[in-house]
Amino acid sequence: MEYGRNGLKQSTRIVVKVGTSTITYPNGKLNLLRIEQLVRVLADLRNQDKEIILVTSGAIGVGASKLGLTYKPVTIQEKQAMAAIGQGILMQVYERIFSEYGIIAAQVLLTKDVIDRDDRKNNARNTFDTLLKYGVIPVVNENDTVATEEIEFGDNDTLSAVVAAIINADLLIILSDIDGLYDKDPHKHADAKLITRVDKIDDHLLENCGGAGSDFGTGGMKTKIMAARLCHDALIDMVIINGNKPRNIYKVLKGEEIGTLFPGKSKREGVVNE
Ligand code: GLU
Repeated sequence: MEYGRNGLKQSTRIVVKVGTSTITYPNGKLNLLRIEQLVRVLADLRNQDKEIILVTSGAIGVGASKLGLTYKPVTIQEKQAMAAIGQGILMQVYERIFSEYGIIAAQVLLTKDVIDRDDRKNNARNTFDTLLKYGVIPVVNENDTVATEEIEFGDNDTLSAVVAAIINADLLIILSDIDGLYDKDPHKHADAKLITRVDKIDDHLLENCGGAGSDFGTGGMKTKIMAARLCHDALIDMVIINGNKPRNIYKVLKGEEIGTLFPGKSKREGVVNE
């Protein structure tokens, strides 16, 4: 058994999370080429007998674009309505492309009560296990239409880590619009360096990774670090890579040094072996 980057080669139950900016253009319309590339990689991994779960955002953006809105919806009612429009479109596209590769996709919409209520958590776990047993790829999003401000996950980074923990995944791969975690904001500092591995997720890292006035990272990095903490606690490896080349998922699974690794499993044995 190997740990660290090499250990990732042995991952068999893998959650992949993709964000809105990776699968849509700035005008909100779907980046079909990107989705096609991503689905092909996931279908190919499925053919290698890996168990794949896709957590996808995009419902709200796609719904807004479908309605021709030129602004980003801000009220919860508007977001929920946009998600109701967009989720169906998103799912239809995934379903169609997965089926071209002979893969069955299943829509799973979750609310935060899968964390708080054991019965809901068990139901979700059983559903995932059964889908995976049949070789299906679950395509997960938050059930935005019923989630209210108080109970929502709010972001799919957290949702993807919760899903990974519920199903006891080996690995969570977060596809981002940036190559990983940097020591300072790469948009502002030309000498910003990519951090290839983070072993300790403390409050300092969380506070400085992308909130307003932060020193490094992007706006979306904070939720990714929070996801990493959830994974760390659940002893699940997590890697952030740039989603612009979905084929880079193969590099992660070959143990190549790409993106930022937050080791989870390696901690279980207390062994780190690069
Ligand atoms: N559930 C939201 C959507 O599909 C996305 C949340 C997020 O961006 O993380 O539009």
